[in-house]
Amino acid sequence: MRTDEEERAGSASRPMPEKEGKRGWRDLPLGAVVTEAGSARAYVTGEWRSGQRPLLDTNRCTSCMICWVYCPDAAIKVEGGKVVGIDYDHCKGCGICAAECPARPEAAIKMVAEGEEG
Ligand code: SF4
Ligand code: SF4
Repeated sequence: MRTDEEERAGSASRPMPEKEGKRGWRDLPLGAVVTEAGSARAYVTGEWRSGQRPLLDTNRCTSCMICWVYCPDAAIKVEGGKVVGIDYDHCKGCGICAAECPARPEAAIKMVAEGEEG
């Protein structure tokens, strides 16, 4: 007699019965699967930002890279070892960069309302 585990493994590998003229599960496209690295570049996910966006003050920024480390969307732009801006195509407006920036007396990144110049 098969155990529950063997039964589950067996049914997972058995093809589902397919009705004539209808597509089976093997014909369905893959969903929720990232099939190639770096595919996020092709999507402007910043379109659904929170309603706030970060503004960088390059005069205050020391390029310590703390914001670059913390940004969950890799949206801090760095060139030649210096922070040069924000990638608004991918920034979600979470505010972590502004909260973690150690520049004093004011952070070098502040959050402003979308459309506001700061
Ligand atoms: S955390 Fe602040 S000071 Fe450091 S690189 Fe980012 S913006 Fe510049
Ligand atoms: S607001 Fe969030 S997503 Fe946008 S740059 Fe800052 S840490 Fe990254």
